[in-house]
Amino acid sequence: MPDCIFCKIINGEIPSTKLYEDERSIAILDINPIALGHTLLISKTHYPTLTDMPDKELGLLAEKLPRLCRAIVKGTNSEGFNVIENNGRCSGQIIPHLHFHIIPRRANDEVRFNWSPRVFPKEEMSSVAKAITDCL
Ligand code: 5GP
Ligand code: ZN
Repeated sequence: MPDCIFCKIINGEIPSTKLYEDERSIAILDINPIALGHTLLISKTHYPTLTDMPDKELGLLAEKLPRLCRAIVKGTNSEGFNVIENNGRCSGQIIPHLHFHIIPRRANDEVRFNWSPRVFPKEEMSSVAKAITDCL
């Protein structure tokens, strides 16, 4: 995709700090990390979101995560990590080219997600469960 930043990084038109590469993916440091070592695992093929990628290809991309996450945790001396994958502008996705964020974490670090748990009425919970299962 000509105007895609990640396609340009993959083609070498834009420089990046590359941590890993194979035939179907690269892992680079995020240019504006929310923690030191914040890494992006990026599909080499341009798909906007997770549901655009064929299941088998997604499996082959996702199976790269454990090794990468272990290396990030060890290499940054962290205690845990978040894996985040945004889909669509409404979710916070800025670059519509499938990628996983891996964010190393330590207790009491400065990473904050605005995650506010809510309670919905039982009927709404049942009806949304039915609506979703009907779509499976
Ligand atoms: P999204 O919001 O699409 O899930 O995340 C896109 C991520 O790409 C952001 O965290 C942003 O900092 C990162 N990013 C944007 N442009 C560049 C770039 O040119 N190089 C690198 N390494 N990361 C980028
Ligand atoms: Zn792209």
